[in-house]
Amino acid sequence: MLLSLKTQLKLNSQQRILMSKHAGIARFTYNWGLATWQSLYKDGYKPNQRLLRTFFNNHVKTNPALSWLKEQGICQKITEFTFENLGDAYKRFFKGLGGYPNFKKKSRGTDSFTINSGGKPISVGGTGLKLSTIGWVRTYEAFPHTSTTKFTISQRAGNWYISFTFEQELPKPSATMTIVGVDVGIKVLATLSTGVVFDNPKARDKIKKKLAKQSRQMNNKTRGSKRYFKQKLRVAKIHKRISDIRFDATHKATTAISKNHAKIVIESLNVKGMMSNHKLAGAVGDANFYEFRRQLEYKSQKFGSEIVYAPMFYPSTKTCSNCGHLQPMPLSVRVFDCQICRISLDRDQNAAKNLEKLGRFVIKTR
Ligand SMILES: [Zn+2]
Repeated sequence: MLLSLKTQLKLNSQQRILMSKHAGIARFTYNWGLATWQSLYKDGYKPNQRLLRTFFNNHVKTNPALSWLKEQGICQKITEFTFENLGDAYKRFFKGLGGYPNFKKKSRGTDSFTINSGGKPISVGGTGLKLSTIGWVRTYEAFPHTSTTKFTISQRAGNWYISFTFEQELPKPSATMTIVGVDVGIKVLATLSTGVVFDNPKARDKIKKKLAKQSRQMNNKTRGSKRYFKQKLRVAKIHKRISDIRFDATHKATTAISKNHAKIVIESLNVKGMMSNHKLAGAVGDANFYEFRRQLEYKSQKFGSEIVYAPMFYPSTKTCSNCGHLQPMPLSVRVFDCQICRISLDRDQNAAKNLEKLGRFVIKTR
């Protein structure tokens, strides 16, 4: 994958002058090239960038008015790139992809030039960089260790920047040795030991209100009447939408979990649902838990991850994930405050961390 990077240069006043001179030369050659191109075209020639370069070299060598360019120690690489740039601008214009090339104006407040190595790789890395004809320059931010074939140096509002593109291999999507503990919840969909939390879909409350309203209207109608059945269908549709939203969110979570981890540790039973006093919450939680587990199972096969189930009475919620101390954790307590090591963290986060720890010891899977 081709990445590009742009960062500010740390220059002394001498270097700033040097950069301005280079930008000036780039602007001059570009404008000279454009004017020459136009006049050659008028005279019936078919200009191209190579012809332009030959013309330029002869022109500079013979014209005493342009001796200042030579005095500056004109950078061959800059002029070469300038003509290439101009050639490309014309190509884009003829293909209808860009406007007719414009002359570069000094007053615009932006300046730039490109140093081209002609395909030879230049190694980059750290905060120092050696540029041909300019010498060593520094950057505020360190470059990654890589290589490139050309740099563009530009100025905006008095600051100078350097940019370049480089090839980089993207890290592999599945980390091969990561273990994750997953606490499947009711309030949130799932909490991972890595700190990632998959929230319940946000739209639920709004739809719930709608569901309550439509259900009320259904109950006001005469049972068995045409209107009653019509209303019943409406209610059923809302139920379907709620479950679709949840199903979709569960899919996203289970895909992300099985795709990015080698070992996934979850509880073997819906302990939360079992502990809940509220019958309906327990039933809903149960259904979610088994759906979550079902999706994880087939997706882990697809992505090559493995699932570890914690033993039925593994106290993931009551154990301190930091020191191992056991303490009671009623359902209403949302934060695990360890009485021994004084660590304080979210109840589900603590449980997920314990599940992850378990995964480090368990080798066998069911
Ligand atoms: Zn503790």
